[in-house]
Amino acid sequence: MYFDLKIVSFRCAEMGTNCSYTLIARSKEELLRDIQNHALRIHGMEDLPADLVKKIEFSIKVGRM
Ligand SMILES: [Zn+2]
Repeated sequence: MYFDLKIVSFRCAEMGTNCSYTLIARSKEELLRDIQNHALRIHGMEDLPADLVKKIEFSIKVGRM
């Protein structure tokens, strides 16, 4: 058994929110979708402005588990 899955993660608090959520996914695309869902459901943001998406992408961590 091998556990060599690529994961990407994002901490909402890095965007200056008071939010303790950490989102984890298998790819950046998947993670960005999850972040958009999270922003809508938890923060009521329907659209993420392009500059915020850039900030989010910049703060995404890539790792393995
Ligand atoms: Zn949040």
